[in-house]
Amino acid sequence: MIIVGAGPTGLMAAALLARCGVGLRIFSQDLGPAQESRAFGVQARSLELLLNMGIVDEVLDKGMLASGSQIFMDGKQAAQLNFDDIGRTDTPYSFVLMLPQWETEAILVRDLQRLGIEVEYGVKATDLSQDPDGVTVTAQRQSGESFEIRGQYSIGADGAHSLVRKKLGLEFVGAPYPQGFLLADCKVDWPLDHNHLKLFLQGTNMAIYFPLPGKNLGRIIALSATPSGQVQGAQPTSLEEVQKALREASGIPVTLSEPLWMSRYNIHHRGVEQYAVGRVFLAGDAAHIHSPAGGQGMNTGLQDAANLAWKLALIVKGQAPPHLLDTYNDERWPVGQKILNFTDRLFAIISSQKGWLAGIRNRLLPRFAGTVSRTGILRSKAFHFISQLGIRYHVPVFLHDDGPFKSVLNAGERAPNATIARNLDVFSLIDGYRFHVLAISSRPLDEAEIARLSDDLAQLPTPQGIDLRTHIVAHSLIGRDPRLHRCESSQVFQAYGLDDESQQALFLIRPDGHIAYRSLQLNVSGLKRFLRDRLGGQ
Ligand SMILES: Cc1cc2nc3c(=O)[nH]c(=O)nc-3n(C[C@H](O)[C@H](O)[C@H](O)COP(=O)(O)OP(=O)(O)OC[C@H]3O[C@@H](n4cnc5c(N)ncnc54)[C@H](O)[C@@H]3O)c2cc1C
Repeated sequence: MIIVGAGPTGLMAAALLARCGVGLRIFSQDLGPAQESRAFGVQARSLELLLNMGIVDEVLDKGMLASGSQIFMDGKQAAQLNFDDIGRTDTPYSFVLMLPQWETEAILVRDLQRLGIEVEYGVKATDLSQDPDGVTVTAQRQSGESFEIRGQYSIGADGAHSLVRKKLGLEFVGAPYPQGFLLADCKVDWPLDHNHLKLFLQGTNMAIYFPLPGKNLGRIIALSATPSGQVQGAQPTSLEEVQKALREASGIPVTLSEPLWMSRYNIHHRGVEQYAVGRVFLAGDAAHIHSPAGGQGMNTGLQDAANLAWKLALIVKGQAPPHLLDTYNDERWPVGQKILNFTDRLFAIISSQKGWLAGIRNRLLPRFAGTVSRTGILRSKAFHFISQLGIRYHVPVFLHDDGPFKSVLNAGERAPNATIARNLDVFSLIDGYRFHVLAISSRPLDEAEIARLSDDLAQLPTPQGIDLRTHIVAHSLIGRDPRLHRCESSQVFQAYGLDDESQQALFLIRPDGHIAYRSLQLNVSGLKRFLRDRLGGQ
């Protein structure tokens, strides 16, 4: 496996493929991990993935929790949304973690080192071709020496200017936004707090503040007085220019100092029409780029990698049918498009400088934000969307439901967390990047039922390349028993939609945390067939 690019997407793909035992090489034209903060909003869904990999504590230890967000209009606070009151029990992470991208990358690089993989820095891909048996990548070292690498498959995680995308002949459809932007990561002195994200709107001016780890440290992004195209990215900005733009947008006497990173940049929204051609797959910014509004970019790349890695592992190591790989494009492309459209609309509203959009922004945005912040259900839904917890796949070939049941979770949905008993929740059972079977019964099971079910589960055919673990979660008629996890809370039944006291369900959960198979019976014969026919289980 050849991974071109060692940004967050390439590193995540490598870390997951390595967990599945797939041999790989990963290289980057950069000389080391990123030095710039770039993406720093790590969403709940990404934290769940890092939990699953056993490295979330490193990320949480270094990051900062944003308490909420505020909107300021004409120098006055117009709305506030608190993240500590989101009201979701289906994730351990009801917040947005602020962590500079270079920290996220460094944690993934250390993870790879523990798995025995070194990123090859200073190696630039210069060409890529494929034939029916594999992929050939030509690369060049710092010294100028060229060499060829051959692999069965390749992932192009080489960012917005992707060479891999160009070699596949895929167009990057979209355009730059007309506005130009200024960015500074620096000390911020003002009479406001430092733990809320803030959006400042005043006349035609707009600025955003994000808290960063460190005393009074923050990121400022402000609309530049100069439109995109008139000043090119190469011309640096100054702290004075960013401070002036922030003062004009906030109407607040603010002083910026000690800059860590400053940039003048233009933003594009672009996407490819397909994420794969033959044996080569695009992921992350190589496949889609959009405005930073909503903090989705890096998180979408991490989830691309999580969707793709187990499929490649099954194909490389096992007997899964090759068209399993088609589901990467079929599942992730619509997600990428939806996020592109969402960030585009959000960005158009908050950055509009004149016309009817600016009118909507000034009049309706604070009102809308105020309603969301006051209404628990809206608050929870908004978080569900932004955090990427609500992503659902709809590709029937490798998903199975025995009929649509409104209340019960369906195949394609994310398997949520829920309390099972004291010190036990679903996420602690379905850990690791592997398959899990959850057999859930709200009707108490007797001795014979427990014995039969655990024997049946033990005989499930396992897909090669990824291990499969089984868990029975149920009320019990025989007290505690090592073969099952006895429910002491009904939260797990509610979370998985078993409302009726006698309901039972069998779920196959994929390594990326989505439900592959759902049956409303504890009969495992259908699941056996699914594992054998669709995933090459033996
Ligand atoms: C100013 C700014 C602010 C941002 N803020 C946010 C935010 O708040 N939240 C968010 O989610 N996202 C944000 N983003 C976007 C985020 O940084 C990207 O979505 C993320 O970095 C994408 O990761 P990636 O791994 O796909 O690509 P990249 O991080 O671009 O990594 C690409 C990798 O490919 C390598 N490479 C490129 N070409 C070659 C080649 N020919 N050969 C070998 N290696 C190659 C590079 O060296 C690099 O290692 C921001 C971006 C910018 C610029």
